[in-house]
Amino acid sequence: MADTLFTNVRIFDGGGETPFTGDVLVSGNRIARVVRTAYGQRGAPAASAVAGATVIDGNGAFLMPGMVEAHTHFSWNDQPTLDSIQRMPPEEHILWCAQVARTYLDMGWTSCVGAATAKPRLDVVIRNAINDGTIVGPRYIAASQEITVPGGLGDTTAPHLPQHEFAFGAIVSGAEEMRRCVRMFAKYGVDQIKINLSGESITGMPSEMSQFTEQEVAVCVDEAHRWGKRVAAHARSTWSIKECVRQGIEVIYHASFTDEEALDMLEAAKFKHFVAPGLAWLINTSYHASAWGLPPEVTKKMGYHRELEAAIESMKAMRRRGIRILPGGDYGFAWTPHGTNAKDLEYFVKHVGMSTMEALLSATAWGGPMMGLNRDGHKEIGYIREGCLADILLVDGDPLSDITILQDKKRILAVMKDGEFHRAPPLRQAGGATRYGAPATVTRWAA
Ligand SMILES: [Zn+2]
Repeated sequence: MADTLFTNVRIFDGGGETPFTGDVLVSGNRIARVVRTAYGQRGAPAASAVAGATVIDGNGAFLMPGMVEAHTHFSWNDQPTLDSIQRMPPEEHILWCAQVARTYLDMGWTSCVGAATAKPRLDVVIRNAINDGTIVGPRYIAASQEITVPGGLGDTTAPHLPQHEFAFGAIVSGAEEMRRCVRMFAKYGVDQIKINLSGESITGMPSEMSQFTEQEVAVCVDEAHRWGKRVAAHARSTWSIKECVRQGIEVIYHASFTDEEALDMLEAAKFKHFVAPGLAWLINTSYHASAWGLPPEVTKKMGYHRELEAAIESMKAMRRRGIRILPGGDYGFAWTPHGTNAKDLEYFVKHVGMSTMEALLSATAWGGPMMGLNRDGHKEIGYIREGCLADILLVDGDPLSDITILQDKKRILAVMKDGEFHRAPPLRQAGGATRYGAPATVTRWAA
């Protein structure tokens, strides 16, 4: 693998400071050197260049860590219902997942957390295929199906259809069925167990309802941890959020309905948990789903407008308390299509009151621990620092002044994962027309 030297780039290093101009040398799959320079000068090339390295003159482009998406469903197929996701035959379904994996990388998400898969082994097969180079995709945490109870979110079976008909979720009742189910997913090789701790209004079960018993949840967590698996919960209700803290469920999805006690509990354990609210789902379901028969009058009756307001208030409170909030918006439904995920960062700024800096950090600095990669103060991803894995984006423009540019594939000039370009910056002739933010030249450094 040839080394790559980015020169004359504005470096957002993930530490929260104002970006600075400099050079970044990538050697193998790691960031080998970060050097500060003055704008317009190729800084200390003799010191930082390596014989044979590809030199990319960024011409002032914004260089930042690859982003981490905390709540993805590669197997959701941009359809409007759980049934239409579930009825996709496995042969087409795995190809679909592979295509979605590429889309995330294309859009700058170099790491993704699987938040549930629609069939037992889709996520595992995709993760393995990415890791062994069979397909292209981000670093990936493979999820189980959603574990639910009879009648809970994800139980799509009907009494008039055969008993063995496959459901959207994995349905368990009682502690022993839970134990068997978690063991089954551990056997399949998932990294993360998903449990549906609350309802979801669109399925007819209000988001504030919860069905599992404490004993069932305890068995789920205990068994997952015995196998070294993490647990993530669909947790919209207040009870379900508290249950995540009480039982040590690390990843809390949605967390819409909080009260003071839930916020206090979360704050007291804030470096143990991650919260990904999935605002895109709430916003688009509330206001942008008319084309699929869900006009705002209908979604208001379902309770989504009220939930959106509650979720925004909860996220504002969590932000004030320093609880880790990450992007991930339940993309993969008809009105939240895959690839539009950077909308979450815009929503964080617009609705939660984050600065653009905080929004960028939510997608980078928190991403390493979320991926289980940054341990004991050791940083692997989410930073442009010497020694980190080389997951790097080159962006045309400044996301700190306009966070929405990260939604535009054309503005993401280059995507590097693990030291290799998934998308290399556009090649231009040396001495040709240049403009701010666009890489001007790509040359090979003479040996
Ligand atoms: Zn989800």
